Amino acid sequence: MGSRLTYLGAAAVGALAWTATEYGLHRFAMHEMKGKGLASREHLKHHADVTYFAPTSKKLLSAAGTTAVAFPLATAATDRRTATAFTSGLIAMYFGYEVAHRRTHTHPPKGAYGRWARRSHLHHHFGAPMRNFGVTSPVYDRLFGTYDDPGVVTVPRRMAPVWMVDEGGEVRPELAADYVVKGRPRAVALATDSPEGAAQAEQDRVDAFANVAPTAD
Ligand SMILES: [Zn+2]
Ligand SMILES: [Zn+2]
Repeated sequence: MGSRLTYLGAAAVGALAWTATEYGLHRFAMHEMKGKGLASREHLKHHADVTYFAPTSKKLLSAAGTTAVAFPLATAATDRRTATAFTSGLIAMYFGYEVAHRRTHTHPPKGAYGRWARRSHLHHHFGAPMRNFGVTSPVYDRLFGTYDDPGVVTVPRRMAPVWMVDEGGEVRPELAADYVVKGRPRAVALATDSPEGAAQAEQDRVDAFANVAPTAD
């Protein structure tokens, strides 16, 4: 049996291990799979329509799946209690990541980290879906050569987060150095009662499942 410090250390290592897991799952299990399997399908649906987030039931399923892989591996490497602490740290960070990811889409940036997280993740969505897989950190993208400096991110107006634009659909002045929005507003571009709206939704779906950035004109 280890000391309390051992368990705290194991939980911290688990939390750190999540950041690598986040990169690996996002890149290989979601994007490289192009819609094969539940995780990939749900994630690419989120790319086709950024207001779509997989329901909590599916996130719990994914946490259970991650535990089912991580816990036996950790148990093979160390004792049961330390392995439990490690897996708890990993899963806690997984839920932290889910919250952080959703917030990049729903809440305006606060501070330098929040600004980076949004520019980088929205570049992943709207500029280059096969770049910037890390949502909470750029470390693994830099390590594996998949990092782009987001620069000024061009966002299709129909997909612009509510925090980015004013009532007229223009970028809020304080965000003008980071984003440009183009094209028709969501209500027009994706009008559910028009064939053009249905065609646009279908095109967005096809692009998302091919890892192609959505059109922005
Ligand atoms: Zn996203
Ligand atoms: Zn993605």
